[in-house]
Amino acid sequence: MRLVFASNNAHKLDEVRAIMPSGIEVLSLREIGFEQEIEENGATLEENSRIKAETVWEYVKGTMDNGQRTMDIDGVFADDTGLEIDALDGRPGVYTARWYLERGKEEGERKKDLGEKEIFAANRAKALRELAGKTNRGAQFKTVVTLIMKKSEDRLQHSDLQVKGVVRGQIATEERGQGGFGYDPLFIPEGYEHTFAELPIEVKNSISHRARAMEALVQTLHEIA
Ligand code: IMP
Repeated sequence: MRLVFASNNAHKLDEVRAIMPSGIEVLSLREIGFEQEIEENGATLEENSRIKAETVWEYVKGTMDNGQRTMDIDGVFADDTGLEIDALDGRPGVYTARWYLERGKEEGERKKDLGEKEIFAANRAKALRELAGKTNRGAQFKTVVTLIMKKSEDRLQHSDLQVKGVVRGQIATEERGQGGFGYDPLFIPEGYEHTFAELPIEVKNSISHRARAMEALVQTLHEIA
């Protein structure tokens, strides 16, 4: 089975490829020649996940319809992930990727044109500021995956074909570790004392929000096969 993963995030792609069983080939957007910017303007993780999957599916369908591409693709899946912090009533949630742009009392300027690593660092700094002095540091990562398959496209575009994965944990009081990406240096998964950035990637890939969503996705693929 060949599925397109509707993401340009190299970290996510590596994780998803490591998690997926060997019978499922995962293609990147670059590998199918998809170069558009997808505007993630949904109000929820569910909406953004669906927007990504549907945009890429339309592209794949278009290339199949007009015969430009002979690539045999069975379907498309997209993930959207949010960090939900208990003491902040579930924020940043759908704004997780660009939380650092949200104005706060202590932030005078909007930072633009940052590279990926700088954005991740600015987001982590924002999380530490927002939680300064707070003892309740409980949080969760939530991943929503939308799957669209070729065989019965109409039914599969329905929202039931969204699966989720959640991992509970704590936000550390300082950054720790070099691995992973995004908020990983701040996230201590439940049952562990180290952050995702300190833990071996195999451990993250066995317990993470994305791993759990992928497990649910593989289960769904078995059920509909
Ligand atoms: P996206 O909208 O699904 O691409 O993810 C939103 C943001 O969540 C990313 O830009 C990262 O900052 C963060 N994020 C997503 N997945 C992870 C993860 O596995 N670890 C840490 N941060 C993550």
